[in-house]
Amino acid sequence: MTISRDHGGTTIGVCDAIVVGAGIVGASCAHALAKAGLAVRIVERDAPARGTSGACEGNLVLWDRTSDPDLALTRVSHRRWAELAEELSAGVGIDIEYARKGSLMVIPESGGIDGARRQCDWLGGQGVRYEWLDAAGVREAEPWLKGAVDGAAYFPDDAQIEPRLATWAQVRAAQRCGATLHAHQPVLDVQSSATGVRVTTGLGVLSADWLVVAAGVWSPEVVRSLHVDVPVRPRKGQIAIIAGSPVQVIHKVMEASYVQTVASDDEQLQVANVVESTRSGSILLGSSREVTVPSDRGVELSVLSRIVARALDFFPDLASAQVIRSYAGLRPMTPDHLPLIGPLREHPRVILATGHEGGGVMGAAATADMVAALIMGAPTPVPPEPYLPTRTLNPAGSHG
Ligand SMILES: Cc1cc2nc3c(=O)[nH]c(=O)nc-3n(C[C@H](O)[C@H](O)[C@H](O)COP(=O)(O)OP(=O)(O)OC[C@H]3O[C@@H](n4cnc5c(N)ncnc54)[C@H](O)[C@@H]3O)c2cc1C
Repeated sequence: MTISRDHGGTTIGVCDAIVVGAGIVGASCAHALAKAGLAVRIVERDAPARGTSGACEGNLVLWDRTSDPDLALTRVSHRRWAELAEELSAGVGIDIEYARKGSLMVIPESGGIDGARRQCDWLGGQGVRYEWLDAAGVREAEPWLKGAVDGAAYFPDDAQIEPRLATWAQVRAAQRCGATLHAHQPVLDVQSSATGVRVTTGLGVLSADWLVVAAGVWSPEVVRSLHVDVPVRPRKGQIAIIAGSPVQVIHKVMEASYVQTVASDDEQLQVANVVESTRSGSILLGSSREVTVPSDRGVELSVLSRIVARALDFFPDLASAQVIRSYAGLRPMTPDHLPLIGPLREHPRVILATGHEGGGVMGAAATADMVAALIMGAPTPVPPEPYLPTRTLNPAGSHG
């Protein structure tokens, strides 16, 4: 239960858990914790979905995962988002545009079949459903895809959501369970003890038993006053939104080499084709990756032109479309490409929920369940060890 009091602008609230960051991860954690009966305060320096969760795509895709623990968490989330889509629609009246449209991992004629087969063998061994299509099968499945391809793997269970709607829906659902949102309130300082935390915001001080840090690429800044090193770096991605062509994109279409860019430790610019349609009829073209700094959210024409050119290699008829919008987001990347979910070693009341890189929309649902289980002392949806911040972080968590 929350005891709110105003002591001359100093202590403004005592609660069970403070969640910093109202991106998809923080919003989902807040909902899960509030639903479990905790008094929750969400502290967001801007508004919900104004960080990376408002500058991304909403793929719920299994095939681009790169390690066993990565896939395990993703599969739980995959199931949970289907349930949440119904729950959020019924509970807070927000349709998060969940669509199980399936995805195509496309193998260009220029190569990549061996890597694609290895990835599919691994996924198949883990129980992920897929089907091989030859070039004619690709044309049948995706008639506007006219570039030279060897074939594709079709993943029928892959889905998508609209991440901004999903973030807001999770915030609203948390509020419906009693959570309070403090928007436009940056966290300025964090102190922790064996029994709780004190968080200084622009409004004053909040005290709680637990702090969940879900501030994406800004998480290291949030806990700076605790003198801990959170190994999260921004991996920038840029997107072009286009409209006005006759092209119909039926599935989510990504080139097979996309998975190598996900798993790679290369900090320089990489571009791999992602084309997906939205319910409004616009088409998203992605996607780039390059390591940068947390203040770099600029869109560069040189990168956009590479993204557009790669999309035209596959969908030449998109040439008549207009770019109607573009944006850049910062993926929170860790050295081993796995998220950080769990308490800090030296500050057991401070729980990290960050570092999902290019899978945070997907991973948010299972992460929230994991955070709630860790705080409530309940069984976790998957064994927590691979994601705990106390693990030894090594680069290259890939399954090989
Ligand atoms: C181009 C691109 C495409 C992507 N596509 C996909 C995809 O298809 N599927 C997928 O699963 N993932 C995708 N991702 C990755 C996904 O977007 C991220 O993993 C996810 O959005 C991270 O969410 P978050 O809640 O951790 O961080 P954020 O959304 O960045 O939220 C962090 C919040 O913390 C707040 N904050 C920061 N500092 C403070 C402070 N001091 N006090 C208070 N609040 C603070 C910020 O304002 C922000 O709102 C993509 C990313 C990019 C860039």
